Amino acid sequence: MEAHALKQALQAQAAHLGFDACRFAPAIAPPHAEAFRQWVAEGKAGEMAWLAKNIDRRTDPQLVLPGAKTMVVVAKSYAQPPRVETSEKEGYRIATYAWGEDYHEVLTPRLRALEEILAAQGGSQRSYVDTGPVLERDYAALAGLGWQGKSTMVISRELGAFFFLGTLLTTLEIPPDDPAQDRCGRCTRCIDICPTAAITGPQQLDARRCVSYLTIELKGAIPVELRALIGNRIYGCDDCAAVCPWNRFAKASTEARFAARPFAQGWLLRDFLKLDDAAFRELFRGSPIKRIKRRGFLRNVCVALGNTGGPEDLAALEAAATDAEPLIAEHAAWALGEITRRGCGGATQAWGTQREP
Ligand code: SF4
Ligand code: SF4
Repeated sequence: MEAHALKQALQAQAAHLGFDACRFAPAIAPPHAEAFRQWVAEGKAGEMAWLAKNIDRRTDPQLVLPGAKTMVVVAKSYAQPPRVETSEKEGYRIATYAWGEDYHEVLTPRLRALEEILAAQGGSQRSYVDTGPVLERDYAALAGLGWQGKSTMVISRELGAFFFLGTLLTTLEIPPDDPAQDRCGRCTRCIDICPTAAITGPQQLDARRCVSYLTIELKGAIPVELRALIGNRIYGCDDCAAVCPWNRFAKASTEARFAARPFAQGWLLRDFLKLDDAAFRELFRGSPIKRIKRRGFLRNVCVALGNTGGPEDLAALEAAATDAEPLIAEHAAWALGEITRRGCGGATQAWGTQREP
């Protein structure tokens, strides 16, 4: 098939599969390769050791797929209609991308379907949803799907900030699209709203301070000095994406599998503490949240309760403070100390003392 015809066939199939965009970049080194190396060298990736482990592959697509010519970049919106707001005291926040089904499960088979078209034309391919050795945001910008905003997220004129990216590297040559223009202008909303000051400047993220890192990627104890800043966020953070003015053009996702499941809103935080391993797995079956396991999730719930809880939460936290998992027990003890310190205590033990996990 001629290259332009192949491009059109891929775009048509991508639309048929439900992708909201499908664009093309040359398989050259990512423009932010050096900045990425520097970022990792400065330790700003925190415990995300896998980023450092395959840094050469991440900065050279030829090491990922020898002979690679083209990076196909697809996007799928997960924007959701606005929900009824709950008060900070009663509610909790889960990042929108995790309200529904795990996006890896939804998008990976569709990327494989695109691969088949290219394989039929004699290409070799590698495709990734988020987990591959590819600086996908760079290629999204190169392909003109959006630009890298000051938040470091890719922002699209059509899709706003709430979309997943998938990448497909192929040895076939497909005409590239034009890169996108940076349209952040003088806006600094994402930097200003960040609760932990993790965005240290335009396109500068210290992941070690980011709530998404702290509540998802970090396996151990959340640094005590950052716990209060996490507020009632129990899995990820939407703030820098939600505040972006380019969302005003975005429509809600058409993907029913990303729609909010019951756990996304309406539970009481203290009821999450009653989940044993089996109940946790059952509640979060097929959700990205299952990744952090019961120990990580209950750790986060304890932090949110420490920030927003009251006397009605003490019994559940006291039980959690004796959990066999030391990480949960320590964060529950911290939460009890915080509630007591705010004067809404009545706890029967001196919970203010920090225990090491
Ligand atoms: S996700 Fe939240 S904590 Fe992380 S950079 Fe954005 S606003 Fe800051
Ligand atoms: S909030 Fe403003 S500065 Fe941040 S990414 Fe969006 S447009 Fe750019």
